[in-house]
Amino acid sequence: MTTEAAAIDDIVGRGNREGAALFRQWFDSLTETAKNGGQAAYVFVMGSMNEILLTFDLPVVFPEINSLQTAVRRVAHEFLDEAEDYGYSPDICGYVKADVTVQLRNGEHPMGQIPKPTISVLTNACNTYIKWAEIWERMHGTPMFTIDVPGSREGGGQTWPGNRDFENDRRYVEAQIWELIDLCEKITGKKFDIDKFRQILGYANDMSVGWKRVVELNKNTPSLFNALTDGTIFLGVANGFRGTKEGSDYFKKLVEEMEYKAAHGIGTMVDEKYRLVFVGVPCYPIFRRFNELFSEWGGTFINSTYLWFASGGTNRGFEYDLANPVASLAEGFLISVRDAMDSMFHQERAVEDMIKDYSVDGVIYHPIKSCRTVSTGLADGRRALMQKHDVSTLFIESDMMDRRVVSEAQMKNRIDAFFEGLASKRDRAQIS
Ligand code: SF4
Repeated sequence: MTTEAAAIDDIVGRGNREGAALFRQWFDSLTETAKNGGQAAYVFVMGSMNEILLTFDLPVVFPEINSLQTAVRRVAHEFLDEAEDYGYSPDICGYVKADVTVQLRNGEHPMGQIPKPTISVLTNACNTYIKWAEIWERMHGTPMFTIDVPGSREGGGQTWPGNRDFENDRRYVEAQIWELIDLCEKITGKKFDIDKFRQILGYANDMSVGWKRVVELNKNTPSLFNALTDGTIFLGVANGFRGTKEGSDYFKKLVEEMEYKAAHGIGTMVDEKYRLVFVGVPCYPIFRRFNELFSEWGGTFINSTYLWFASGGTNRGFEYDLANPVASLAEGFLISVRDAMDSMFHQERAVEDMIKDYSVDGVIYHPIKSCRTVSTGLADGRRALMQKHDVSTLFIESDMMDRRVVSEAQMKNRIDAFFEGLASKRDRAQIS
């Protein structure tokens, strides 16, 4: 192997390899915590507060990620059935039901064992979060701490630091963070260590800067990573390792990999013909196959709203001011969680930005049965987008957990017809 080939071998695909290894490491350490009866904090992707919880050495558990892993590993139906037999409705969020089964099975999960929650921390970004945490409260007596994040109140989007409303909202969030710190001190018996907190914020800064850069680098043609498949691995690290040295190192190296690929014209494995944006939550029951239905036509996902809201708004690249850590955490939290909410509720704005910057050929909307938070309003958002932009769109409904409502054959027909339309649109444009 030449030196150049060895360098390519080492760097290209490194983010996926190391991301998968970190992911296993994370679940191994959760298993150890569960077996030792250690403490753990249950959190959510839209506003996890890892920065505070890690300062108190509380391992973080993301039940949303645990649940989606049951679907990727093709056992979600067993978990859903068990929760439905227990009395939960087929209509509610599939993530909740899979987690209920994990709790009923004493933490048993395909990737290890999940510790019981000592505390749950949530935001109002999804109303299901609140009802979900109430389940742990009832099952285990777990104290739940809800951070109320004021959403965007202006038609044009967020307000920013310096604006009177923003500053009031920031103070409101900061007061809640101090209450959370008090609660963590009580639960763990540890004093809040501001220097450790600063160090954690520093690592989180590296991750935010890296995440923003990685997403931006995919403006490159051909695209450097698949927002749906590779992006989900990056998201796992962005959530599980936020505020850690491992997470910081990972994202620095990921930027290096993507810059290397851009400089050497190395794209994904697909011969890119159509650049697509994905809106919604992925179809985890047939995760790889779903992507293939597009890649077989040369379609690549170059960005998604999922990369925004499922990273809790890390894509904003917000950097904490380490001289003023708690106030700055409140500011960053407000900006990023709002951004995550906006990319769900006003997804047409996020998609419009992507269309401007990423040379997009098509937008794929994937509303799902069991997540109304993300899916409600997608049809209106699509209509609004199409009134303003001459971009092809596809609307396919299924689920992120429940294989009973995922029809691959039907999806394939719709997707094939979509690409045939894209091809003839391109032909017409070349003739005229
Ligand atoms: S955002 Fe959707 S998938 Fe996530 S917890 Fe809320 S309802 Fe469930």
